[in-house]
Amino acid sequence: RFIVFEGGDGAGKSTQARLLADFLRGAGREVLPTREPGGTEIGERLRSLVLDHGQGAVDARTEALIFAAARAAHVQQVIVPALEAGNIVISDRYVDSSIAYQGVGRGLGTGDVACINEWATGGLLPDLTVLLDVSATAGRARRTAGEAAEDRMESEPDDFHMRIRAAFAALAAAAPERYLVLDAGAPIAELATSIHARVAGL
Ligand code: C5P
Repeated sequence: RFIVFEGGDGAGKSTQARLLADFLRGAGREVLPTREPGGTEIGERLRSLVLDHGQGAVDARTEALIFAAARAAHVQQVIVPALEAGNIVISDRYVDSSIAYQGVGRGLGTGDVACINEWATGGLLPDLTVLLDVSATAGRARRTAGEAAEDRMESEPDDFHMRIRAAFAALAAAAPERYLVLDAGAPIAELATSIHARVAGL
């Protein structure tokens, strides 16, 4: 099974991904937690290439191709082998992030970005995507409460993050059977309970 967490910056994806991995391990399952962009050596290098620079340092098409390249490596080197070995793979972000950030946020168009990603992933889709819906202001408040400095994407203005949020919601609405959409403002334990119940149903 392949489970993905999506949502804006500061939604709490990594916290919930970790809690789900603990829950599944407690139930005796083999779990592989991973994240994008990253999860492989080349992916981590591409991640810093695209995120650790100032605004304007990477043009939109290059950015989309770098994320797609990192994802191709992630699918082939990490996700597919783990699924074939019978593990449950939990990824913090996947294709929907590119459709939202590069397709809508950067204005490249959702169709083209979906197309390069379908090629990059060989068409691999998650069995379930948990979308943690967060407003631009709540996401920013959570990020700036943390220690780390904002990356190139996080420091974009609120209207960028509002468009990202709408893009994620539209993706979920187009295939509701493959999504669990939750309000990221709910308490951590309450979100975890909803997620664990839905995953147990898989
Ligand atoms: O928070 P996380 O570790 O997922 O950080 C990844 C960063 O990359 C985020 O700032 C996110 O906005 C950005 N990103 C992106 N396009 C993607 C995937 C991630 O802009 N396709």
